[in-house]
Amino acid sequence: MNDTPNTVSLPLLAAEARENLTPFAAMTESPWVGGDLSVMPAASAFGVLARLVRLNALKPKDLFASFGLRLRRADDLSEVMTFSHARQAALAKALRLPDAPPEWALSTWLPFRTGSELLRDPWKFRYCQMCLATGYHTLLHQLPWLDHCPWHHCVLRTQCPLCAAPTTVRVEWLVDANLRCKSCDHDLLVTERAMVGSVEAPNGAQTFLEEYLAWAKERRAKTILLVPDKPSGSHAALSKLVKTQMIEMRSRRRFDSAKREPQYAHKPLALDALESFRRLDVLHQDRPGFLQVPRMMCNALAAVASNLALKLPPRTLTGREMRLFLVGMGIEEPKGFQPADRRQSQSVAMLPPTNVAGQQYLNLTCVHPSAYRAASRLVDVALNNSLAMGFHGQVSPHEAHVVLLACQQILCRGYAEGLRAILSRDIPQLYSMPRDRPHLGQPWMIATIENGNLSATHVVWCPIDCGKLGEADVLDQADAANRRRQITSVRLNNRRHL
Ligand SMILES: [Zn+2]
Ligand SMILES: [Zn+2]
Repeated sequence: MNDTPNTVSLPLLAAEARENLTPFAAMTESPWVGGDLSVMPAASAFGVLARLVRLNALKPKDLFASFGLRLRRADDLSEVMTFSHARQAALAKALRLPDAPPEWALSTWLPFRTGSELLRDPWKFRYCQMCLATGYHTLLHQLPWLDHCPWHHCVLRTQCPLCAAPTTVRVEWLVDANLRCKSCDHDLLVTERAMVGSVEAPNGAQTFLEEYLAWAKERRAKTILLVPDKPSGSHAALSKLVKTQMIEMRSRRRFDSAKREPQYAHKPLALDALESFRRLDVLHQDRPGFLQVPRMMCNALAAVASNLALKLPPRTLTGREMRLFLVGMGIEEPKGFQPADRRQSQSVAMLPPTNVAGQQYLNLTCVHPSAYRAASRLVDVALNNSLAMGFHGQVSPHEAHVVLLACQQILCRGYAEGLRAILSRDIPQLYSMPRDRPHLGQPWMIATIENGNLSATHVVWCPIDCGKLGEADVLDQADAANRRRQITSVRLNNRRHL
């Protein structure tokens, strides 16, 4: 099977191939040159492997013979070694470690809990030039919320620093040339420096890594990441979300000393909160249709509609449409209002919140599902969190306030974006309004749970990639997908009852 028996592919061969390595190989206790991980704090599995490959002059096919790693030429070695538990376990075994070190798992580096496999799509090997030259790479350098190596202060790169060609980490290197640029021959890993690196960790790395990992662990214990449906790219969203948290980390002392009391302008009555949760429950449906707007959110949503209507250029809304947009706020059309010279549009007339028998209803087909599903997910987090207590009433008033306020902000933004998107069909002038140009976004959220209560939320919006479609078409598509889900659910239910 193997043309190279294990004994031959071991470092002996490497030592022969690189005479200058022989004395070093003879000195180390590990079967590998560079196999002592203790000198490389929290190194990544890929970093460990890349260094072993270089210092022991291994060929791609040696990965199986030496470490039991079965790989294809097209595999991105850095991606495989980050996400494959089986490959990490094999490498750990070959290095005589009891288990794969926790620092090889990406989850150890995340300052939140999440059920999603993040950062994989798309995955790009990212490194610090100074660290990698010595054969050191850590998953810290892959985290999108860091732009620079914390101890060298160099920009983290995904390309060759000399010619900007993409870094290739496929399983197809020539001996002694893994991590060497294929375009300009620049060597990202300098063998001689890696040898020195075997006895000396990058200055300052140890302390920073220990502090970072402790912080991430502490945050993970109390924060949950809520990922939107069909996220368009996680890197930018996570970078924005976590950067603000890291700023908080640096000023933590100030935060701790100034004891923060929960502050909210108006404490919702417990009954009001209960009623609001019940109404938001409709957002769980496959195609929710209309939301009976919780009382505390009515004004905010009505204001979204009227604010936009009042900003539109003259002759864009008909008189009746304008009145529909303003009625929720109880205002009349402004003096000098110039109505559009067209028939009333059915699709425009259904956009503002409608009042029926003293209740406000919001048409959800003009809100992108990733917005209202985020709101319902947040309610779930609060409720599940209090499940031990058995029912809604156990959500504390502060917790209810935090959740409902966040839901309101999410719904208002989703509604504002949806309004502009759908209006743009009748009012193309919106595209020339810089601040109100139609665009759609999706919310990414971190929820903080302290002492059993959801105590804070942090939301960032990232653009939804509409491709060649217009924003209104993307909303139509989302509604069509909801409709299909609804039909499937009905069929499944019917079958269950047969
Ligand atoms: Zn560095
Ligand atoms: Zn290059």
